[in-house]
Order: sequence, then C-alpha cells, then structure tokens
Amino acid sequence: MTETSYTLPLPELEGLHKEFYDHCKNHALHFQRCSDCQIWRHVPREMCPECGSWDWRWEASSGRGRVFTWTVVARPMHPAFVDACPYAPVVIEMEEGVRLLSEVADVAPADLKIDMEVTVHYDDVTNEVTLPKFKKL
Ligand SMILES: [Zn+2]
Repeated sequence: MTETSYTLPLPELEGLHKEFYDHCKNHALHFQRCSDCQIWRHVPREMCPECGSWDWRWEASSGRGRVFTWTVVARPMHPAFVDACPYAPVVIEMEEGVRLLSEVADVAPADLKIDMEVTVHYDDVTNEVTLPKFKKL
C-alpha cells in the first residue's frame, strides 16, 4: 500500500513502541521478556509487572495465537473508520501468553470463533509502518 492511500490512524513511533514496530517492519513479531522471572509482556513498558525487574530483552514470538475475544464495530468512533464498518477489532492471545489488539484479516466478523487458531502476517501500510495482523490457520 502506498503512503497516500492508507487513511486510518497510525501508531506513534516513539520509545519502546517504536522498537516494537521496528521489528514488525522487519516482518518479525517480538515481545518483551523479563530477564529475571522470564514472563512475556505486551504492551511495551520499562518495568516487569510480575516481579518489578527493570531487566528485559526483546524475544521473537512464534507468531501463532488464538482468538481471545472481539467486538464488532458497526458505528465508527472516528471519522477515518466510516468506510471500514462493520469491522472486528480482535484480541489475540499469543502462544507466549501476551495479548494484543489486531484483526483477523481473512475472516468476516460473523465467522470469528473463540480459540480460532491464527498466525501473524505483516501489512506494510506505509513506508514507515507495518502492522501485525492475523490469518486463520
Ligand atoms: Zn519479571
């Protein structure tokens, strides 16, 4: 997709969020993992919510997960989404245990199922931003 054709809001590329999206731009999904208690976490943050450690590293995800939940948006809450409705923001629970908000690109909202197995794919929406999205396995 070209820079000018993508009209939906984009993530702010700052700090740890930029690092997360830099991995996505390289078509790799990485999450933070605590160097002390080893739990994975997302969204990016400096301190471990489990043990309070400040030591962490980026670690590659398997890219596989399951549909945890979703909602169907019928009325846009932002003018940029008028043409996208109805659409389904989906919470994906990754094999590593972290959850992220995305979409299952090849499944209509009415056909989504809890625990549907999905795998990541990468949508290069602009020259700077690649969004991790999912497809049914
Ligand atoms: Zn920890």
